[in-house]
Amino acid sequence: MSLDLLSLTPEAAKLVLEDWLAQRGEAPYRVRQVFPRLWQRPVARWAEATDLAAALRTALAEAFPLRSMSLKTHQVSGDGTEKFLWALEDGEAIESVLIPEGKRRTLCISSQAGCALGCVFCATGRMGFRRNLSAGEIAGQVRELMLRDPTLKPTNVVFMGMGEPLLNWDAVDTTLTILNRADGLGIGARHITVSTVGILPNLARFARRPEQFRLAVSLHAPSSTLRRELMPIEKKYSLAEVMDALKHFRRRVTLEYVLIGGKNDSVETADQLAVLAQPLEALVNLLPLHPGGAPDLTPSSRAQMLAFERRLKHRGVEAVLRRSRGLDISAACGQLRVELEGGAPSRRKVRAEEHAHIE
Ligand code: SF4
Repeated sequence: MSLDLLSLTPEAAKLVLEDWLAQRGEAPYRVRQVFPRLWQRPVARWAEATDLAAALRTALAEAFPLRSMSLKTHQVSGDGTEKFLWALEDGEAIESVLIPEGKRRTLCISSQAGCALGCVFCATGRMGFRRNLSAGEIAGQVRELMLRDPTLKPTNVVFMGMGEPLLNWDAVDTTLTILNRADGLGIGARHITVSTVGILPNLARFARRPEQFRLAVSLHAPSSTLRRELMPIEKKYSLAEVMDALKHFRRRVTLEYVLIGGKNDSVETADQLAVLAQPLEALVNLLPLHPGGAPDLTPSSRAQMLAFERRLKHRGVEAVLRRSRGLDISAACGQLRVELEGGAPSRRKVRAEEHAHIE
């Protein structure tokens, strides 16, 4: 029987290793050689941990195989954005996007293969749900980058790739621990952002975690009617309920808002959004649509986006209009996989840029 140590919290993985090593009659200090190979000084295979005896490496590989993902496609944009399409062991494919900006390297990671929620502006949504990722597969996206090049280790992680993280809460809960703990990947909680449409029961669980993790809510519409048109989840967890839940979140929240031409980008809509954002003192991230996906949607004009941003600021809301990154590669959520699997949406069509920059 083998066990996936990469899907356990570091604390739990260490206990398992300590027990296992003791049963083999190994000296207690061995755990200090073996354990860091999970996250701190990762190896792709136990065979590469050459500071360990060959027999121990073979036994580790049998008891605790290190699940890996293989890089199917790698694209680099002129602006430095890098997109990775990983093939998982069962053949599912997931995406990560690395966005460099000054000293910051933000990695946008996937939490599910596909997504069940069907937001109209999103390629992943149209792909449908395939399966939840394990914690090892979610945090493993950071691990794989470090295996390729330790200098690629991200300074920031955002759960904005494929999938809705709060619909895979158990794995995401463990992943947050792996990402944050010093004996895991050691990324500061304030540098880790979970982005959700607002799955209320798990939002409450996330809010109860004591660390200063950040929360971004994919809002995209300031009224229930408009949100229902763009995001079917509105039928289950309404805008009013989500906004109410945010009042109880102890930390500052970011609201994500993709600007879609003629749909949600009028100054009147900006006024409605301001009414929601202002009492929360939320930061509003305005995201241009990313060229490349959903039919029937068009991006807002630059002038309209600027007018929308100005109006929010005028109403006392901190709003930032983000640059669209990776325009020359398939850097929108789910885009690369959809294109590779055929039936690809044309680049002339439009889909949401979900890989935002989070402060
Ligand atoms: S935007 Fe997020 S929640 Fe909506 S369909 Fe895409 S991946 Fe799912």
